[in-house]
Amino acid sequence: MADSQRVTNAGTGRGVKTLIVAALVVAVGAVLYAKKQTREPSARNDSAGVTSATQETGPGTNSATTGATATARLPRLVDVGAGKCIPCIMMAPILDELKTEYAGIMDVQFVDVWENPGAGEEYGVELIPTQIFYDASGKERFRHQGFFGKEDILAKWKELDVSLASAEKPPSFSRWDPAKPDDRPKDSVCYLCDGGIDPKTRTVMKTPAGNVAFCSPHCYLITYASLTDEKKSHQNVAVTDWSSGNPVPATSAVYVYGMDTNGRPTTKAFADEASAINEQQKSGGNVLAWAPFEEKEMATRCAFCDRPVYPEDASIVRIQGIQTWGCCVMCALGVAARTGKDIEVTAKDASTGEPLRVKTYEGHVAELTPPAMVAWAGAKKDAEGKSVSTGCFKQAFFATEANLKQWVELHPTATGSLVSIEQALAANMRLTPPQISKACNIGECAPS
Ligand SMILES: [Zn+2]
Ligand SMILES: [Zn+2]
Repeated sequence: MADSQRVTNAGTGRGVKTLIVAALVVAVGAVLYAKKQTREPSARNDSAGVTSATQETGPGTNSATTGATATARLPRLVDVGAGKCIPCIMMAPILDELKTEYAGIMDVQFVDVWENPGAGEEYGVELIPTQIFYDASGKERFRHQGFFGKEDILAKWKELDVSLASAEKPPSFSRWDPAKPDDRPKDSVCYLCDGGIDPKTRTVMKTPAGNVAFCSPHCYLITYASLTDEKKSHQNVAVTDWSSGNPVPATSAVYVYGMDTNGRPTTKAFADEASAINEQQKSGGNVLAWAPFEEKEMATRCAFCDRPVYPEDASIVRIQGIQTWGCCVMCALGVAARTGKDIEVTAKDASTGEPLRVKTYEGHVAELTPPAMVAWAGAKKDAEGKSVSTGCFKQAFFATEANLKQWVELHPTATGSLVSIEQALAANMRLTPPQISKACNIGECAPS
């Protein structure tokens, strides 16, 4: 290793080091890392995934997986390298892929020894890149020096008998067959939200496959926002005239846009403006033609799936101090995947209405309030037995498992499973950018 040793001695400038490193890569596949670095405490920080060592878990446990969290410990792969060393550069896309594909199953961290001069010593690394394998208990099981391919990494975990399928474990509580069949006539159930249809606000979209009924123009517009461009047209849609109960083409109706006692918008459609103004004088609100009505309805969107949403129905999502909305709790978590940012979600317990909060850090749960909160992933089994989301209106958060079970009991047609908030977030973090943009187009929540 005389050549490698020279790197240490000659490595006074980064440019020189990089050149020699590049020349050595072919020969040794890994680069001798200068051990006698001076420690710079200020350069060591959480964002690089390096914190002070702990006895049982080894170094590098970040604040997202410690502290007051409900996060389960995961197997962890730490790649100690540097931004400019060639085998390290070759490792980068592999680490990115593993990070995405195994979100919520394995932690993948990259530690840069040039940016964090103490890290090499902390991890006991002499050559970069070095990959260190920690099992879920935090015990180091294996380390490898030099470039290590994706298949080799996965095979090594297998050889170590460390399961990378923890997120696929059967849920502790689920129901796949409704406790009671939904025997409501199809025509009386809203296609989108599954609620009963009030005949006075019934909205019908004619499609080649038959009529689709909605409880309100609002539910119709949410569906409209999910349609692909060539299918987008209001021409085949009829709303109900509040006075006569007769269908009226949606685009020629006049709307009284009001508000209920909770501040949630209400919509009454009329066949003519005079009737609308008459209603407005009695009950207040704004009189709007179709275009401004549609514009108002479309003004507030889900930050994950882009569908219109009333803030009164939504979860609040804060991204770096900016407030946005998630049309359901799963969409709210999905904002972390879509934006790649840390978020704070405020939602309500679907059973008791008490406020619940989730803070994320680098795609993981950093804080849950209360810590025992859980999610109901509304889903059904498809023909192949795979679980498929039943949509935004069937997803819920609860402060406790007991609240969830009580809610499931009260909703005999609900199917799905109990998942941890980390699992619900991981399902979103695993989505690839094309899957996220597809979710936005078809308005699907939390595909699992
Ligand atoms: Zn509806
Ligand atoms: Zn949404």
